[in-house]
Amino acid sequence: MEFRDLKTQYMSLKRQIDAAIDKVVINGTFIMGKEVAQLEEALANYVGVHHCVTCASGTDALQMVLAAWGIGPGDAVFVPAFTFVAPAEAAVSRGAEPVFVDVEEDTYTISPDSLEQAVEAVRQEGRLNAKAVIPVDLFGLPADYRRILPLAQKYGLKVLEDGAQGFGGSLDGQRACSFGDAAATSFFPAKPLGCYGDGGAVFTQDQGLADLIRSLRAHGRGDSRYEHIRPGFNSRLDTLQASVLLVKLEAFSHYELEASRQAAKLYDTWLNGMVRTPVIPKGFQSGFAQYTIQMKDGGQRDFLQERLRKWDIPTTVYYPAPLHTQPVFSGMGGGEGEFPVAEALCKRVLSLPMHPYLQPGDIRRVTAAIGAEYPFLAPSL
Ligand SMILES: *Cc1c(COP(=O)(O)O)cnc(C)c1O
Repeated sequence: MEFRDLKTQYMSLKRQIDAAIDKVVINGTFIMGKEVAQLEEALANYVGVHHCVTCASGTDALQMVLAAWGIGPGDAVFVPAFTFVAPAEAAVSRGAEPVFVDVEEDTYTISPDSLEQAVEAVRQEGRLNAKAVIPVDLFGLPADYRRILPLAQKYGLKVLEDGAQGFGGSLDGQRACSFGDAAATSFFPAKPLGCYGDGGAVFTQDQGLADLIRSLRAHGRGDSRYEHIRPGFNSRLDTLQASVLLVKLEAFSHYELEASRQAAKLYDTWLNGMVRTPVIPKGFQSGFAQYTIQMKDGGQRDFLQERLRKWDIPTTVYYPAPLHTQPVFSGMGGGEGEFPVAEALCKRVLSLPMHPYLQPGDIRRVTAAIGAEYPFLAPSL
């Protein structure tokens, strides 16, 4: 059983993917071929926004949006303490400071209450300008934009949705990667919509921002190719990757997303009463980039992970350490103990195999193994 099965996906789409790749190689337009524009249009339509600008990675997408907004030294960018490193790294890459915020214990996404406290604290201290927040759609579940957007409005913060894991999720019928002033996503192979290497995209309703990102991704170019009007990046999506993504987006929207949701439902049913299964609040839909369970404490989690290894079941801990304790951010506020929820989650979470090609039999094997180990876990549950 694979944690995320890209081989089965390839075998099922092989004919179309091979044909798409062949076409690009024969054409020879490896940079900014017509597939890139086709993909951008298809992605914008799927998400439900006016503009999609693809680029070389999800990390670049985040960094370019912050650059386009002119965020830099003296600015505070609020980021969750429990997530992948990229949003905080993006702030630092611009010379701004990441200000960490605790997350919700049940949904794992940024806590609106903690966000408001953090913004108030920054304003009171007066050292940094509160400029932007990067909520993360963790494990496929959109952050709580119902509360985050009004807060951002109240404090004049730009909102950059990190939808790297969120693609396919929705909130009140609105798709992930369409919230806030701009959104970033990633096509890293293991993400809900992945290519065969690195890739990413920016989504926005703002024509001016989209134009700026198009300039930034091509060395800050002006109207002509060798006119450079701002410092930029070298961050385009390869035509080859766009051609693969066009095929995969079809599969994703037609059946893969639904298959992942069905897999999650089976997990929910068969794990009911044993471990804490993902909480999806009313009005939210997850794309299930991960299926993450929560144990009572670190001892139980480590024990279960070790036992599942013996059953030959791959699991991963997303994430073993909160961002505020990472050496790269030391001295940027927040020592051990500052964000208790994020710290506790790092000890208690465990992500199980999850992908659209997971069979009910595979899920049964995972849940049966957890069931078999459960009596040994139960005493402290
Ligand atoms: C993967 C990921 C990114 C970065 O994406 P890359 O394409 O690998 O640069 C950013 N944020 C989150 C939450 C991610 O999971």
